Amino acid sequence: MPAKRNLRILIAGAGPVGLTAALELARRGYRPRIVDEGDDLAPAVQSRALAVNARTLFLLEPSGVTEKLLAEAQQICEMRIGAGVRRLMTIDLLATDSRHRGMHALPQGRTERILAEALAAYGIAVEWRTECVAVSDPEIPVATLALPDGSRKDEPFDIVIGADGAHSTMRKSAGFDFPGSALSETFYLADYRYAAPVDTSYAEARFFDPGVIARLPVSPSILRYVSTLPDFRERIEHPAPVDAVLWESDFHVSFRHTAQMAKGNIFLAGDAAHIHSPVGGRGMNLGIEDACWLAWLIDEGRTGEYTRLRLTAVETVLADTRRMTRLILMRNPILCALRNLAVPLLAAIPRVRQEGLNGVLGLDTPAPPWLPA
Ligand SMILES: Cc1cc2nc3c(=O)[nH]c(=O)nc-3n(C[C@H](O)[C@H](O)[C@H](O)COP(=O)(O)OP(=O)(O)OC[C@H]3O[C@@H](n4cnc5c(N)ncnc54)[C@H](O)[C@@H]3O)c2cc1C
Repeated sequence: MPAKRNLRILIAGAGPVGLTAALELARRGYRPRIVDEGDDLAPAVQSRALAVNARTLFLLEPSGVTEKLLAEAQQICEMRIGAGVRRLMTIDLLATDSRHRGMHALPQGRTERILAEALAAYGIAVEWRTECVAVSDPEIPVATLALPDGSRKDEPFDIVIGADGAHSTMRKSAGFDFPGSALSETFYLADYRYAAPVDTSYAEARFFDPGVIARLPVSPSILRYVSTLPDFRERIEHPAPVDAVLWESDFHVSFRHTAQMAKGNIFLAGDAAHIHSPVGGRGMNLGIEDACWLAWLIDEGRTGEYTRLRLTAVETVLADTRRMTRLILMRNPILCALRNLAVPLLAAIPRVRQEGLNGVLGLDTPAPPWLPA
């Protein structure tokens, strides 16, 4: 292997995870290449991820990104859970000793732009319209790149990081398995812009038994609603006159993760390695965590520990989101009634409240050893 900082590192995918990996390496003196088959960063509208948790804010502090995220994001102070008109539980997201408190909402496109700008300060730009079509030989990986002029080139690297999303070519090409299961239910999403400012201090999930509608703040005049009910639009109680529907979509949910997150010198991070339901807003945050750990392990010369160290976090988050997703998808009226009775009782137990809060803040995964406790 060449001297540490001369390592030839390729990052496939310039989503939030690939950008974070590049930035965390760049700030330690490495010069990774980062390629993406797309034309540009995700747009600010039609944003998948909104929720940026406390763990991410701690992780992105050394690169100066956190300060910029906080300047733009909406702080969500409270999570409300209700059934019909009855409030079952309120989680005070500020009730913690953690320096970063609450959840922060920022469209994924904005988060990506802030990361890309921080990376540009190290003189590293994303190579757009460059697809990584294959990778071979885990020991000295050779990546086949499809370049913007239509040509293809095989290039050797010391390290290849597959951050190329849920349908990852890197994962398939390197022969990682991706076991898990898909849910049959459809989830619906709509982003509304209002003619007047709305209350962005809380997020809410309301059970309709069966079905749920979640309300998430996006910006001072935009709210997102996510539901399992096809007719959810008619059930929304809008807080102000609707100015425009900015985005409507539907999606399906799978729970999968690779058994290994590395093969030799090929590493997977983010959705390339794990996917789960967006309930709890954890996917991007978990992927950003992968990227930060991987950059640290590369710098420490300890990449052999990546799978072991990350799988604990991945399994925790998948189990947690699976549990929450099951709760919102309940259809049996007796089970729904029992759940609605149990939620306030459980919420009254301090340990349960604390564990729930830690999950929302993303502080239920192993703490990064390179950051102050
Ligand atoms: C409705 C919805 C809401 C969500 N809300 C949240 C939330 O609130 N909080 C949260 O943390 N997560 C949330 N998520 C999950 C989050 O969006 C993903 O976990 C996150 O985008 C994963 O980032 P990534 O960088 O791994 O992958 P991606 O964002 O998918 O980026 C992958 C990149 O790789 C590029 N690429 C793909 N193939 C190749 C190739 N072969 N060569 C080169 N480039 C390639 C793509 O163009 C893309 O730019 C949500 C998801 C959905 C669907």
